Amino acid sequence: MERVYNFSAGPSVLPLPVLEEAQRELMNANGSGMSVMEMSHRSSLFKDIIAEAEELLRDLMDIPDNYKVLFLQGGASTQFAMVPLNLMSKNKKADYVNTGVWAKKAISEAKRYGTVNVVASSEDQTFNYIPDLDESTFSEDADYFHITINNTIYGTRYTRLPDTGHVPLVTDASSGILSEVYPVSKFGLIYAGAQKNIGPAGLTIAIIREDLIGNAMEFTPTMMDYKTHADNNSMYNTPPTFAIYMAMLVFRWLKKLGGVPEIEKYNIEKAKLLYDFLDNSDLFRGTAAPKDRSLMNVPFVLPTEELNKKFISEAQKAGLVNLAGHRSVGGMRASIYNAMPIEGVKALVSFMEKFELENK
Ligand SMILES: *Cc1c(COP(=O)(O)O)cnc(C)c1O
Repeated sequence: MERVYNFSAGPSVLPLPVLEEAQRELMNANGSGMSVMEMSHRSSLFKDIIAEAEELLRDLMDIPDNYKVLFLQGGASTQFAMVPLNLMSKNKKADYVNTGVWAKKAISEAKRYGTVNVVASSEDQTFNYIPDLDESTFSEDADYFHITINNTIYGTRYTRLPDTGHVPLVTDASSGILSEVYPVSKFGLIYAGAQKNIGPAGLTIAIIREDLIGNAMEFTPTMMDYKTHADNNSMYNTPPTFAIYMAMLVFRWLKKLGGVPEIEKYNIEKAKLLYDFLDNSDLFRGTAAPKDRSLMNVPFVLPTEELNKKFISEAQKAGLVNLAGHRSVGGMRASIYNAMPIEGVKALVSFMEKFELENK
């Protein structure tokens, strides 16, 4: 079996031991004589799976007891609406930072439900940096403050969280969750689609402080009210059972590796290999501001569009796949999520060195 190094931004690479375990259990999970896909979500076997997934995530992220962990569907994009529907209910006002396409989508969705104050934006430079935040521009009476902690398309990340005082900090952590230590208690709500750093598409995780649950706008659909899912342990309706099982296996794998502090060190080492190469190259150029560089998504360009195309196509032939940048920015992007082994990054850097020599 020939596996490639898959640098896709999402859905993305999964740990090989996890895929192997899922394969072993595919026909007969835990002696049940059936696949997890075929099991009732009300069965005791599945209840054990979702309970273990939650317990492992609580352990990995050190989630305080006054936070609920919800297993949802609809992707981060559904959270763009659920967040305002549930949280924008007191003063109908929220602060947002515009750091890219995903932040913009979150902003335009929130505008349907109340007043949005965009406190800062990095649109002037194609979102290649995280803007400085001036606390005096924050709204005192905002119902929450929203950031996108890792910007998947531009390869930027917050290395310092804004001090929002009593205003709950909400983050879209789709591409950053579990890649480095997040101080959960500094947030009111963390949400993430699973398909970047957790498991297959179809599962969305929300980690929400309990006092933020139960205040949804009156017309909020039942399925979009956090309270519905919190009151029913994410079992109000059929949850994405197989995706939750896969996430549980990924959490086990991560715990065995030493948890988030260990993977953070590994991610820093992996990212450094690429950034050091880019900083010293005469041909390749990293596009994100060095102070705000992501550990997970590394965008870069060559001097011409023709060379970009050539690089992507030759890399593909060498088993380094999905290196094209997001369709809105072009160029290249290497997504090096938790499951990307350092060997993959080394193979990419060697390939780039060779490409540079041949194309100078
Ligand atoms: C991928 C991504 C999204 C979109 O997620 P869906 O699950 O497809 O809705 C939103 N925000 C960020 C930061 C992402 O990386």
